Amino acid sequence: MGGMSGDWDEVDMSKPLVLVDMDGVCADLMTPWLLAYGSRKNRLFTVEDVRNFKMETNAGFDDGVYEFLRRDGVFADLRPIPGAVQALRHLNDTANVYICSTPSRNPASATEKLRWCGRHLPFIHRRRLILCARKDLVRGDYLIEDSPDNVRDWALANPQGKTILIDYPYNACASPSYRTCSYQKPEQAWDEIVAFIDGGGR
Ligand SMILES: [Mg+2]
Repeated sequence: MGGMSGDWDEVDMSKPLVLVDMDGVCADLMTPWLLAYGSRKNRLFTVEDVRNFKMETNAGFDDGVYEFLRRDGVFADLRPIPGAVQALRHLNDTANVYICSTPSRNPASATEKLRWCGRHLPFIHRRRLILCARKDLVRGDYLIEDSPDNVRDWALANPQGKTILIDYPYNACASPSYRTCSYQKPEQAWDEIVAFIDGGGR
């Protein structure tokens, strides 16, 4: 068991190592982001409007979409994706769970992500947060993602590893080891993730 007692982070190497993305996987960035951008554009955007992971390339979007990510507090205030906390609490016992997330261009996002994990995932040791822009350089048995590029790059660098993708319109192009049901059923998607990992990735 991780961070509840003391500072010692015991790693049981007999258990698989699971890397978990934050935005779109355990933290809901898309809802407040689309709401903020939509109010600026006087339009209602939904996740269905985001067909491409590069936000500015979608119809109706431009570079101004990134203004939201530069605001302080954005990443601190994100709501957990339903089912994620419960699933990660379980996986934290059956696997070595590491949160692996790319900070935004606002440097404050790194602190906010650290605090977010402490608040919503207190059972995961604080030393199990990896902030980096190159997930393909991080080793693991599983990567849970929503980005098609991260899945592709990580799979190339970790040919033994398994990639798990939560299904979004913007990642339809990716070929993960496992694709969950739609993001619209997040609890079911997380049930599938737990079953896949506890089943040994088969
Ligand atoms: Mg993500």
